[in-house]
Amino acid sequence: MATMVDLNLITDLQKFGAPDVNACYSCGNCTAICPLADNDATFPRRFIRLAQVGLTDELVTSKELWTCYQCGMCTSRCPQEADPAEFMATARRFAIAKLDKTGIARALSTKPVLGSVIVIAAMLFFALFFASVREQETRARLAFFDFIPYHWIHLVGLILMGVVALFAVINLVFMIRGIAKRDQVSAKSLFGSKAAWGRTFRALWYSIGVESLGQKRFREDCADDEPAEPLYRRRWLIHFLTLWGFIGLFVATTLNYVLDMAGVKPTGTAVPLWYPIRLLGTVAGLALMYGVSWFMINRRQQVSSAAKHSSPADWLFLWLLMLTGLTGFVIEVALYLPGPQIWAYWVFLVHVAIAMELVLFLPFTKFAHVMYRPVSLFFYGLAKDEHRELQPV
Ligand code: SF4
Ligand code: SF4
Repeated sequence: MATMVDLNLITDLQKFGAPDVNACYSCGNCTAICPLADNDATFPRRFIRLAQVGLTDELVTSKELWTCYQCGMCTSRCPQEADPAEFMATARRFAIAKLDKTGIARALSTKPVLGSVIVIAAMLFFALFFASVREQETRARLAFFDFIPYHWIHLVGLILMGVVALFAVINLVFMIRGIAKRDQVSAKSLFGSKAAWGRTFRALWYSIGVESLGQKRFREDCADDEPAEPLYRRRWLIHFLTLWGFIGLFVATTLNYVLDMAGVKPTGTAVPLWYPIRLLGTVAGLALMYGVSWFMINRRQQVSSAAKHSSPADWLFLWLLMLTGLTGFVIEVALYLPGPQIWAYWVFLVHVAIAMELVLFLPFTKFAHVMYRPVSLFFYGLAKDEHRELQPV
């Protein structure tokens, strides 16, 4: 079958912030130093080569692209200053934009002004929508969820999740088809026999349990680049706390909703701090804020090659997380203050608008890595298992 060559690929990648990779002469230093190269003698320089020869589809639907944790060790050893670590990060931004057919991801990454207009317009829309719902249904009362009726937040949240899921599924189908075709993975090879089922489950466990949630290689292999960093500032820990903080908040919000529906505890009620769901939400919120704060400080101070270049999409994702967490804590404090805090109702409105925005933009921002990385790691796990390299865990 004919292979499509894109002569403008490098130019296009540069719009996403790619360094000048024409300088790369494929010496292999980056491969030699990369802790995640395993026995692959072409990782990560293969991706620069793909860009040089214009193989867009191979670049975008490559499972190995998402295995890189951007530690920056390859960049520190590159004699040509081709900055392979930044190239890999750019290629992931590019992949998110290519897989998204709406053009929103591309605008957010390459057109800061248009991207800002889209983001602000969406935020204003949610804020005005909820404010108008409040006007129609109620006047400010004593509980937050009377200020903006909870069933409206719930309804809009469900609709948004449906829209996001639809976008996510479409994008993932493109990606999965590309990887499966190249790796010759079929339904039969996944489920055709008992051994195939076993391999599929091991790859799933590797992807979700070992790497996505446990971040084993990030923690153990990629730590070598930062021996001087104290534990509290290690990149894997910052990422780990951000991830688990987000998961904790998601679980706390879901449990809150379930208890509300069951009539056990209306959402927004002031309960003691040690109340399990409140405690989970507080601890998870602190973990999230800790991680996001360090991400921001590191990017601001450009402490390493991994934090040296920041795209608008990087900052957008961090600010959405930061503002969601901050406004959440302000609301929590207001709940424990005596008497109604009218100012806090408006903070609540901002909180809901930003949280909705965070969810809505998932397939278009850096947040999209939460869906692409596990899928890539699944195929990566399958391939490793096939070559008997995946260690039992
Ligand atoms: S990116 Fe740098 S280290 Fe890697 S192959 Fe190219 S020139 Fe060598
Ligand atoms: S940034 Fe780190 S993990 Fe990624 S390719 Fe370079 S050395 Fe490997």
